[in-house]
Amino acid sequence: MADLDVVVVGAGFAGIYAVHALRSAGLTVRAFEAGSGIGGTWFWNCYPGARCDVESKDYSYSFSPELEQEWSWSERYPAQPEVLRYLNHVADRFGLWPDIQLNTRVTAAIWDGEASQWTVRTDDGAERTARFCVMAAGCLSAYQVPAFRGLESFRGPWYHTSRWPREGVDFTGLQVGLVGTGSTGIQVAPEIAEVAQHLYVFQRTANFAVPNRNAPVDPNVERALKAGYRQYREQARASMLGVPVEGTGRPALAEPAAELQRTYMERWQAGGGMPFLGAYTDVLVDRAANDTVAEFIRDRIRETVRDPAVAELLCPTTYPVGAKRLCQSDDYFAMYNRPNVTLVDVRSDPIAEVTPEGLRTADGFYALDALVFATGFDAMTGALARIDIRGADGLPLTEKWAAGPRAYLGVATAGFPNMFIVTGPGSPSVLSNMVVSIEQHVEWIRDCVEYAVSHGYSQVEATSEAEKAWGEHVIEVAYSTLFPMADSWYVGANIPGKPRVFSPYIGGVGTYRARCDEVASAGYEGFVLTVSLADCRRLAVSVSVNPQAQQVLDGRAEAGVPPTWEQTPEEARAGFAPVREMIGPGPDVASVRDIVIPGTAGGIPARVYSPVANPPGTVVYYHGGGWVLGSVDDWDACVRALAVASGCDVVSVDYRLAPEHVFPAATDDAYDALVWVAAEMAGDRPLAVAGDSAGGNLAAVSALRARDSGGPALALQVLIYPVTDHDLDRESYRKYDGREFILNKGDMAWFWDHYAPDPAARSNPYASPLRATDLSGLPPAFVLTAEHDPLRDEGYAYADRLRAAKVPVEHRHYGSQIHGFFTLVNVIDDADKAAAESGAAIRAAMEG
Ligand SMILES: Cc1cc2nc3c(=O)[nH]c(=O)nc-3n(C[C@H](O)[C@H](O)[C@H](O)COP(=O)(O)OP(=O)(O)OC[C@H]3O[C@@H](n4cnc5c(N)ncnc54)[C@H](O)[C@@H]3O)c2cc1C
Repeated sequence: MADLDVVVVGAGFAGIYAVHALRSAGLTVRAFEAGSGIGGTWFWNCYPGARCDVESKDYSYSFSPELEQEWSWSERYPAQPEVLRYLNHVADRFGLWPDIQLNTRVTAAIWDGEASQWTVRTDDGAERTARFCVMAAGCLSAYQVPAFRGLESFRGPWYHTSRWPREGVDFTGLQVGLVGTGSTGIQVAPEIAEVAQHLYVFQRTANFAVPNRNAPVDPNVERALKAGYRQYREQARASMLGVPVEGTGRPALAEPAAELQRTYMERWQAGGGMPFLGAYTDVLVDRAANDTVAEFIRDRIRETVRDPAVAELLCPTTYPVGAKRLCQSDDYFAMYNRPNVTLVDVRSDPIAEVTPEGLRTADGFYALDALVFATGFDAMTGALARIDIRGADGLPLTEKWAAGPRAYLGVATAGFPNMFIVTGPGSPSVLSNMVVSIEQHVEWIRDCVEYAVSHGYSQVEATSEAEKAWGEHVIEVAYSTLFPMADSWYVGANIPGKPRVFSPYIGGVGTYRARCDEVASAGYEGFVLTVSLADCRRLAVSVSVNPQAQQVLDGRAEAGVPPTWEQTPEEARAGFAPVREMIGPGPDVASVRDIVIPGTAGGIPARVYSPVANPPGTVVYYHGGGWVLGSVDDWDACVRALAVASGCDVVSVDYRLAPEHVFPAATDDAYDALVWVAAEMAGDRPLAVAGDSAGGNLAAVSALRARDSGGPALALQVLIYPVTDHDLDRESYRKYDGREFILNKGDMAWFWDHYAPDPAARSNPYASPLRATDLSGLPPAFVLTAEHDPLRDEGYAYADRLRAAKVPVEHRHYGSQIHGFFTLVNVIDDADKAAAESGAAIRAAMEG
C-alpha cells in the first residue's frame, strides 16, 4: 500500500492550495518544497522592487470567503514581502504546516504500474510512495543564468534575481551591471540605480511597459469590494485573463483616432497592463490594431526619456505589444534620465565575455563591481525537466517532451498515469492571473482524484488521442492571435536549444474552465480510468482490518467492553487483566529481574530483561496506556519479544500514572530512568529509548530532553504509534471518532484530560513533541504506524518533521493493523513481525 494518497511537489500558491484542498477531501497528502520556506515565486524572488503586476484584490485565493474577508492588502500592487506574508498566513490559518516538508527537493518520481503508485525520491535520500503525484513545481521557478564566457572569472559578486540573498545586497557606491530587461529587470533596475554609483543596463530586447499607478488600498474601496467579493470572483473565473476587465467591446480599427487616444490615455493614467490590452477586441489578433497601442506606448517613452537616442533604444519595435509579458513600472523609463544610468544596446553590440573586472561587449568594456542577472526562467517545463520523472514502461518525461511539451488540457500527459501538472503547458497558466488558474486546476485535480478513489479506480491516464487533439487546438488558437510573433519565453525562445512550441492556452480562462468542467461531467472524457489487478489486491487489504486484529475487535464487542472514556481510570486499568490472559506468556528471556531506580520524585520500579550475556546495547522501554493505564506486567510479553529480537538488555519502566500524577510526572520519571540507566547500567554500550503509544511519546520526549540538557547520547529512538501532539482534529482521528478500534478520538481526549488537565501544558514540547520548534540533532528514529489508528497521522507528521530536520528516519507502516497490535504477541502475527523489525533496527543501531 502506498505511504500517501498524494505527493505534491512544490509549495507555492499551487502546492499550498493543493495540500489544503486534497487534505480537506480526506486524502493523505505530503508536499515537498525545495526552499526553506513556502511561497514559491514569492519566497525566491526577494530582489528589491519585486512586486505583483496583477492587483492584490485579484491576485489572492478565492476558495475561502472567510480568508478573503479577514485579510487586508496594504497596496494595490503588493510587494514581495506582503505576498509572502499572505501565503504564510494561509498556511497558519489552515494548519498546513504538518503536511509540508521544507528543504526537500524531489529528485525523481517513478511510476510503478503494477502497484499503481509513484515512488518519489527526495534529496535527503528518502523515498515515499503515493497513489497520485501533483506537480506544483511552478511555471517560472527554474531560473536561468546565461552561459557567458568567463563568468566564473568575475571578481565581484553576481546574483540572479530569483535566488536573491535573503539578507539583501548593498550596492551603495558600486558600479553595477544588470543583464535582462523583462518584467523583473524593469522592477529591480530603478532600485539599484537609487544607490549604485553607476548602473549599466544591458538590453537585448526593448520591452513595453505601462505604469502601475501603485497606491495604498483605500479602506472604503476595500469595504465595497468585500461586500460583493463573491460576485467579483465569479466574474474573474469567467473572464479572459482571470481578472474582470472592462473593455469597450469595439475593435480599435473601427475607432476614431481621437477616441482611441482618449481611451488609451485614460487607461495609462489609471495604470495596469490588463485593462490596457483588454480595451479593444482586436488588439491581440490584428497587427494594425496592435500598432495603435504600441505607438501610444512608444510615444509615452519618448515623452519620458530626455535623451532621444536612449528613448528610441527603449522603444520596442520587433514584436506586437502583449506578445511578450507586458511589463509594469512607475519609474523604469524615467530612471534613464539619471546621470548614473547607462543603457547598453547588446543587440547591436553583443556581450562577448565576462572578465575578472567587468563585462566586455564586441565594441566596449564596462568595469563592474557586481553583476545582476534578471534573465528569467526555463519557463513552463524547466522545473519538471529537472526531476527524473518516469512514466509507464520507464519512459522519461524529458524524452516524451523532447520535441515540445504535450499535455491534455495542460493538466495530464499520456503515459504518466496519476500524475497531474498544475498550470501545465496547454493551460492558460502564465497568460492569466495565475491564482485564478491555479485554483481552477487544483480543484479540478482534487475532483478527479476523488472521483477515481470513490469509484474504485486505481489509475487515471490521459489518452494520446485526447492529448493530440487538445495540443492542436492550443496551437490553432495561438496562431489566430499575435502571440506567436514574438521570440518570447512563452515559446521557449530564451533557452538555447529548447524546441519552440507555444505552450500556454490563449482561449481564455472562462472558456478553458468550461471545457474542463465538461470533461469531468462526461466521466473524465479523454482519460482512461482503470483498476489494476495488483491494486484490487491492495485495496482489499487496505480497506479491511487484518483478520486476527478483527477477531480481537469482535471479542471485545462480544464481551461488551465499554469504551475507555466511559470508564473510571481504575476500571480501565482492571481491563488489562483479561487482555494479559489472552496474550499469555511472552518468549523466554535468559534473565529477568525487578529493580527500583532512584528518581528525583522517589523510587521508579522497573524490570530488566537480559536475553544474552554480552548484549550490544541497552534499551529503555516505556509502555503505552495513555499515561493513565498499563504497567510493566501488562507489557511483559511484548517487551520480552523486543528483548529477544534486539538481543539487547531492555529496561521496562513503571513511571507514575495520571490522574494521580499529572504532566510532567511521567516524563520526569521516564527521563530520570534514562539518565540512571545510562550512568549505572549501560556502561560503554550504546543506549536507545523505545515505547509504544503514550510510551512512544515518553521515548520521543526523553530523546528531546537528552538533547536539550546535554543528557545521555542515544543511538536510536523507537517510536511505535507514538502520541506526538494533542491536536485531535487530524484525519485519522476523524475517521475513528465514535468507532471502536481499541482507541478512538474520545479515548484520546480522555487520556489528555487526565494527563494534562491544564490545556496550556499540552502544547509544551515535552507533552507534544511535534510542537518543538527544532527537531534537529535528535537521534535516528525508527517509527512504526498502524493504518486503523487515530495516532496514524501524528506518527507520520513526526517522522516527516524529523526528516525535515535531517534526522535519519526509518518508517514502517502496517496497512491493515489496529492501534495496540504491537502488544498482542501470540495473538496477532504482525506483533511478532513488528517486534522483529524494531529489534533488527535496534541491533543495527547498536552495532553500527
Ligand atoms: C517575479 C515574479 C512576479 C510575478 N508576478 C505575477 C503576477 O503579478 N501575477 C501573476 O499572475 N503571476 C505572477 N508571477 C507568476 C507566478 O509564478 C505565479 O503567479 C505563482 O506564484 C506560481 O505559483 P506556483 O505555486 O505554481 O509556482 P511557484 O510559486 O514557482 O512555486 C513552485 C515551487 O516548487 C518548488 N519546486 C520546484 N521543483 C521542485 C522539486 N523538484 N522539489 C521540491 N520543490 C520544488 C520551488 O522551489 C517553488 O517554491 C510572477 C512570477 C515572478 C517570477
